[in-house]
Amino acid sequence: MIVTFPHMGPLTVAIKSVFRRLGQEIVVPPPTSHRTISLGARYAPELVCLPFKVTLGNMIEGLEKGADTVAMATSHGNCRLGFYWPAQEIILKDLGFRFEMIPINYDRPLEFMGEFRRFGGGRGWKDVAPSFLFGIRKLLALEELEILSMQTRPREKERGQTTRLFKKWHAILDEASDNRKVKQTMERARSDFLDARSRGKKPLARIRIVGEGYMMAEPNVNFHLQQKLGDIGVEVERSYWLGKSVMRAIRLDRKGRREHERAIREATPYMRYPDLCTGCQSIGETIQAVHRGFDGVVLIMPFTCMPEVLAQSVMHKVSEDHGIPVLPLPIDEHSDEGGVSTRLEAFVDLIVRRKHLKSNQVAVPAG
Ligand code: SF4
Repeated sequence: MIVTFPHMGPLTVAIKSVFRRLGQEIVVPPPTSHRTISLGARYAPELVCLPFKVTLGNMIEGLEKGADTVAMATSHGNCRLGFYWPAQEIILKDLGFRFEMIPINYDRPLEFMGEFRRFGGGRGWKDVAPSFLFGIRKLLALEELEILSMQTRPREKERGQTTRLFKKWHAILDEASDNRKVKQTMERARSDFLDARSRGKKPLARIRIVGEGYMMAEPNVNFHLQQKLGDIGVEVERSYWLGKSVMRAIRLDRKGRREHERAIREATPYMRYPDLCTGCQSIGETIQAVHRGFDGVVLIMPFTCMPEVLAQSVMHKVSEDHGIPVLPLPIDEHSDEGGVSTRLEAFVDLIVRRKHLKSNQVAVPAG
């Protein structure tokens, strides 16, 4: 079995570590590029959401490099993700690829573990579970590196220093082969990031990114949104982290579960059946951003994403009621980097001006 899998931000490095420890042969697809997206868009249904197209492109590139098995995340949730793998399997087989598709259901813990064991080559839980937990540990560490970068970038002493540090520690974490090395790496990384911050430098504004998880996690698809905002001088916080959501799914993150439930409750006045829609979380997280003193919210979503289109339809009202500017940022395969940068810069200008007027006690509209 030679396994390939689609990219999703730091997940690639975490999966690589797990498979390496299990002795499982893998093919990592090339980083998501223009070619990946074009391939996916060529063979996918035209109106399906962007992550379907990009992950299909990753699978094609992995199979072209010799993989014979595809591992793909799935869910029993109420959006299209549950249909991704069967539809992708049909498309790829029609294209002539011979392979086995293994869906990994991350919101049903027991199924998730059972499916994952298939990569253990007949080994028992004693071998598979520590490798799996090591992968989660690494994923959480990689995501902490992103958080440190988002906090440091608008305060960095020297332009570009944060991105250099991020790349350096990311590469070291990629090579870390056990929990002790991950722990030591993170201790040194935290202190490096703290040293890179200038005490006198304040971020221009604080923005929370909410919306669709895949789009938040994959920088090659979201045009490096976090880095772009940080380079303008904005401190960014993201509402979705894959590591946390896996921990929640396997019942190891009670705090995260409570936060998630609180966000859904906050959205209730705007949605009649909030439990049925993951976009409700974006609404709740926007309201929480107001309580936590953020200056603005970016709602990132793939064009035609069902839950986030619902969220977008009431976001104007949420923004008005709670007095927070919200920038909806729909992205598809035709989006271009220049357009995204221009919209972000204009949004940051608006919230900085608004902040300034507010501090001078002048009444200003929400956005
Ligand atoms: S959340 Fe949206 S983009 Fe993601 S799979 Fe569901 S419909 Fe598609």
